[in-house]
Amino acid sequence: MYEKKDTLSWQSVTQKLLQQQRGQGIAVADLELLRGVLRFHEYRYYVLNDPLLSDFEYDQLFKSLEKLERQHPLLVTPDSPTQRVAKDLTRDFPTVQHLVPMLSLDNSYNADDLIDFDRRVKELTGLTSVEYCVEPKFDGSSISLIYKNDLLARAATRGDGLQGDEVTNNVKQIRTVPLSAPFAALGIEEIEIRGEVLINKENFNRFNEGLLQQGLPPLANPRNAAAGTLRLKDPAEAAKRKLEVFVYHISYVGSIAKASTPKALETHAGALELLWEMGFRSPHLEKKICKGIDAVIEHCTQFEHSRDELPYEIDGMVIKVNAIEWQEKMGMTSHHPRWAVAYKFKARQATTQLTGVEFQVGRTGAVTPVAKLTPVPVGGVMVSSISIHNEEYIQEKDLRIGDQVLIERAGDVIPQIVKSLTDLRKGKEKKIIFPTQCPVCNSHLFKEEEEAVWRCINIECPAQVVERIIHFVSKDAMDIRGLGEANIRKFYELQLLRDIPSIYTFNFSALENQEGFGKKSIENLQTAITASKTQPLHRLIYALGIRFVGETTARTLAAAVDHLLDFEKFSVEQLLELEDVGPKVAGSIHDFFSNKENIEMIKTLERLGLSLRNEKKGVTPSGNLSGKTFLFTGTLPTLKRSTAEEMVRSQGGLVLGGVSAKLDYLVTGEDAGSKLEKAKKINTIRIISEAEFLQLIGN
Ligand code: AMP
Ligand code: ZN
Repeated sequence: MYEKKDTLSWQSVTQKLLQQQRGQGIAVADLELLRGVLRFHEYRYYVLNDPLLSDFEYDQLFKSLEKLERQHPLLVTPDSPTQRVAKDLTRDFPTVQHLVPMLSLDNSYNADDLIDFDRRVKELTGLTSVEYCVEPKFDGSSISLIYKNDLLARAATRGDGLQGDEVTNNVKQIRTVPLSAPFAALGIEEIEIRGEVLINKENFNRFNEGLLQQGLPPLANPRNAAAGTLRLKDPAEAAKRKLEVFVYHISYVGSIAKASTPKALETHAGALELLWEMGFRSPHLEKKICKGIDAVIEHCTQFEHSRDELPYEIDGMVIKVNAIEWQEKMGMTSHHPRWAVAYKFKARQATTQLTGVEFQVGRTGAVTPVAKLTPVPVGGVMVSSISIHNEEYIQEKDLRIGDQVLIERAGDVIPQIVKSLTDLRKGKEKKIIFPTQCPVCNSHLFKEEEEAVWRCINIECPAQVVERIIHFVSKDAMDIRGLGEANIRKFYELQLLRDIPSIYTFNFSALENQEGFGKKSIENLQTAITASKTQPLHRLIYALGIRFVGETTARTLAAAVDHLLDFEKFSVEQLLELEDVGPKVAGSIHDFFSNKENIEMIKTLERLGLSLRNEKKGVTPSGNLSGKTFLFTGTLPTLKRSTAEEMVRSQGGLVLGGVSAKLDYLVTGEDAGSKLEKAKKINTIRIISEAEFLQLIGN
């Protein structure tokens, strides 16, 4: 939406305002300019994902705007960036009438279906070859946005297609939805735009982790999360969930002289471009114009392969006749438009029988019920068991042994039970009874108030000990290969492993007469164990399995001390000062290092030769890649992604989370997806192959 020269001038205005803000403050005369600056940076941040301003500077400017508007309430405009923060909460959602019915799409599942669709289009239009616009079918919740006199006037859900819920306040929280857009300049007074509200996979996973940590049931898929969030009563809560919107259709244009219809609106692809230019997020990059159905089929089949590379869920493609004139002539049935069809990808849902429940004890003692299922393929993966989390979850979903259940595996998301199909019950299904005693050590289970999880609090409980060892040696922790899960269980039974330190006093000679252990494998195991003693401190911290301490927090912690036992002296307050450490995490770390047995174990590990020092502290990372930023996309020919990332870090480089102007190198492998497309648009990014990457790091 902003040309390069606009970008430059907004940047210089930004600097000027920042200077004023640091000095005697921004003048009221610059109020509208300030709003412009904030809108520009919101667009860079949310729509382009390519910020030019630090969060801090943005906040400072935003606060200045709030202050000015407080001092001059008459000057507040409805599309001011401050107006995203809804003032009054709607208690419930008024029902509103759609300007044009929100229909479904006709479905197709294979090439033959698409050929049929093409035949119908040709029959209706008399064309011999049709131009189609093909785009992803976003798997979210549909939304209608009405702009009147350039302002976002109303947002509504699809509802029954004729009427939906008005959710304007919640939609105003979504930063990819502009509060105003310059339609009047095109002679458009009122316009209705359709799109899809979604939550990306990363935010979804994070949201679910949060639910699980609070002992609440996770949501089955990003689609439910998006739909549920739209209907939250509290817009501030909705804002936290980080929804996004892709717009893909203009369904109504009010008061525009036909003769002056902008050229862009003559095709669907043009409309997507126009919306993009006006500041909306539309699939303008993801769309593809295909001439004839064969090109459509090829594109759809190809796109399905890169499905998991996208940061958000899609469940298929949508194929639309590109010329709007033909769309209008073809019209719709009561159910769907005749000029479009959805091409559905392989289902990631399946029904199967819940045959039993196993109760597993984790390394923190939490007892997790796991549903055993009649194995069934879902999206290419066999699923035979699924965590059903906790007692409340079982009750809420009304799960019984013997039930037919609908399961879903969204990409990158662990499979979940969507619901039990209660209509199919035969009367013989059995209630799931939660044990009162630990299924492994028989101690009594406890449940803390406010928590949904039952725990075995016997820290010598064999299940917990084994799980702690498994975690300790795992790939992202101490990475001791050859000590796989099955071996750990076996060694525990043979009393060769008793606890974490016993890994380092392992009696290898006892293995010599064990079946399945040759000389070579024993040697390998020995080397792997010895090598792990010098793993960097952050890995050891992560390996200890302190509750709520993941890999990222472990890195933060490692960077904060010279020696692991320095944490003995840390107060909760000191821990809270560390980046991303909140009260819950700080409390858990503090508890861990206040526990005598834990300290004893750590000291034993040190005696056994493990390094507890932060070797890197004080030394700024140097190496070939010092200060350089990297990102990987696609499947690399030889390296695993995590290995490549580790190589970057070990040479002082940084791995970024997404494509932005800050990125120096994008390393691409096979089936590189949208990151590559995006990187091509920023000419300071160098796009390189794995071979070039290896050369760069001198390998
Ligand atoms: P279905 O609900 O399976 O009948 O599919 C129709 C729905 O697909 C629409 O109501 C939209 O919410 C959704 N959809 C997702 N992406 C698109 C797109 N690019 N174009 C049109 N509809 C889409
Ligand atoms: Zn137990």
